[in-house]
Amino acid sequence: MNILVINCGSSSLKFQLIDAETEKQIAKGLCERIGIEGSRLVYQPAGGEKEETVTPMPDHTKAIELVLNALTNEKTGVVKSLDEIGAVGHRIVHGGEKFASSTIITDEVIEAIKACNDLAPLHNPANLIGIDACKKLMPTTPMVGVFDTAFHQTMPKEAYLYGLPYEYYEKYQVRRYGFHGTSHSYVSKRAAELLGKKYEDLKIIVCHLGNGASISAVKDGKCVDTSMGLTPLEGLIMGTRSGDIDPAIIEFLAHKEKKSIDEIMTVLNKKSGVLGLSDNLSSDFRDLEKSYNAGEDRGLRTIQTFAYRVAKYIGAYTAAMNGVDVICFTAGVGENSPLVRNLACERLGYLGIALDQEKNNKRGEELEVSTPDSKVKVLVVPTNEELAIARETAALVK
Ligand code: ADP
Repeated sequence: MNILVINCGSSSLKFQLIDAETEKQIAKGLCERIGIEGSRLVYQPAGGEKEETVTPMPDHTKAIELVLNALTNEKTGVVKSLDEIGAVGHRIVHGGEKFASSTIITDEVIEAIKACNDLAPLHNPANLIGIDACKKLMPTTPMVGVFDTAFHQTMPKEAYLYGLPYEYYEKYQVRRYGFHGTSHSYVSKRAAELLGKKYEDLKIIVCHLGNGASISAVKDGKCVDTSMGLTPLEGLIMGTRSGDIDPAIIEFLAHKEKKSIDEIMTVLNKKSGVLGLSDNLSSDFRDLEKSYNAGEDRGLRTIQTFAYRVAKYIGAYTAAMNGVDVICFTAGVGENSPLVRNLACERLGYLGIALDQEKNNKRGEELEVSTPDSKVKVLVVPTNEELAIARETAALVK
């Protein structure tokens, strides 16, 4: 069965068509600037040329219509008709406490996702627009929602509660939810497979280090803690997001800079992280590593501070699980930056962790990078959220 995986943002839409049996990608692409002038569709059949079409997309329904046309196009398409698409899997950012696993999308489920809109005001409404557009264009094709938060719903109370008046949890469900769950789940399972061990017998720490970054602790096959919180702002230092800060800084800066809370939140979300720390050099680690290697202070302080926070969370999650068997690095930085892996792991000698420098110097491959006698295995496991969504979708539709 072919599964269309859709990741719908407010003005963009990424898609992949995946054969659920062979797990091969058949085509992929994205629509950008939906509802904005200059919208374009990028489409690429597996093994074929990338095509770029600049064409008006006033809304997401039009964007999905163009995607479906591209997939069924006589010359460059990959399927003869829409009947060859067995199901659609939607990435949904926030499932609150309602969704601890993926689910077939029904009218009731749509209402329950809407009820989580407050928790992810930028993301969930866009995800719902994508569902609505698919419903219009493929009314009989089953759809599945795969939630970024679902994998983390197994966290115990002591991990998800904040030290706030309990009534805020009861009234507004203010608690830790965590994100990137599809990636943490995929990577931790894959790590067990690679080591030939039972998933349920391992203590795994997954470091998902991309533009957005989060760490999770997975014990006996269940997530027990994760670094992102009510929103994806908490935790590690990210591309442009601050991660953990003293909450009093918000008031302090609002006062000093004469900015509103909204303006300060924009600083924390868009102007902080490694971009802010490097004095606006870049949010991209490729640029930051150049500066680091040139011995510039802004590259040095930024990457050292980033890696220090990663090591600190690994220490915390080792405590949370009373031990650790495997540490996995994934996503853009985790897969491609030997430097960051090294800087984080060299602080973890007390755990008996040692990296094989030659192996660690490789990029973007599925690989064990620790030495044979390292007490804790360190793996690089490239993430594949689309494949994980396709698997979940196929399993539910069958
Ligand atoms: P997201 O999905 O959150 O947008 P990714 O997981 O794609 O992010 O990660 C993107 C980041 O990965 C880039 O901003 C860049 O910092 C980093 N990255 C990608 N390739 C390399 C590389 N070769 N070396 C170092 N960092 C890299």
